[in-house]
Amino acid sequence: MSQIDSLRANFEAIRARIAAACQRAGRDPSEVRLLPVSKTVDEARLRAAYALGIRELGENKVQEAQSKSEAMADLDDLRWVLIGHLQGNKAKHAARFISEFQALHTTRLAETLDRRLQMEGRGIDVLVQVNTSGEESKFGLPPDEVVDFVRTLPAYPSLRVRGLMTLAMFSKDESLVRPCFVRLRELRDRLRQEAPDGIGMDELSMGMSGDFEMAIEEGATTVRVGTAIFGARPTADSDYWPGFAGGKSGA
Ligand SMILES: *Cc1c(COP(=O)(O)O)cnc(C)c1O
Repeated sequence: MSQIDSLRANFEAIRARIAAACQRAGRDPSEVRLLPVSKTVDEARLRAAYALGIRELGENKVQEAQSKSEAMADLDDLRWVLIGHLQGNKAKHAARFISEFQALHTTRLAETLDRRLQMEGRGIDVLVQVNTSGEESKFGLPPDEVVDFVRTLPAYPSLRVRGLMTLAMFSKDESLVRPCFVRLRELRDRLRQEAPDGIGMDELSMGMSGDFEMAIEEGATTVRVGTAIFGARPTADSDYWPGFAGGKSGA
């Protein structure tokens, strides 16, 4: 099979699994956005994905995302979604090209990013990252701090807040993973009552290659899928999640 045919088959297989999970949960598949995660994937394959109709890509690191966005600047309707931790000193780079940031979890970064976006005359979609597993290695706000944090966000007009994001516990044990998704959904439902005007709370970004079907059953509106589409990565997961020591549920 050619590269593009095998990639097409992978996308079709994932879409079929999304549709099946939606059916089990009594949901409409159009409610679930598939965000392909392209870290370590080379430009040729990403151009193949674009040729197949993909118009947004998730990247964990801003530098890698930036060099890809520059190399593919001719594809001007391709959205870059940053799904990993962003250091304040890189906010000015991110502000130039990302369309969405899914890992907001500090006031300081909200301030810096908003200021940089205003300088660029841009606005982006934002999700607040929540640490639903309680693991110290994970970025994200503890669930009980999210309501207060979200109340501060109307001060940053360049950040269009859309909802919440989480990484579940990395485990093959469903009884540890599923509660993380339930926690995020319950928190979102509560925030729908308590969030200030102008703060959207429709999005739930949760679920990856190993657990996206469970996340859909629990209400995910975005699933972030990398290896199940593009194949195994040459890099270790610990490059992306500090302190990560294995045990991730397999793709
Ligand atoms: C890499 C990554 C994913 C996708 O992981 P896969 O297991 O390859 O599907 C999802 N979310 C974040 C934050 C990531 O960094």
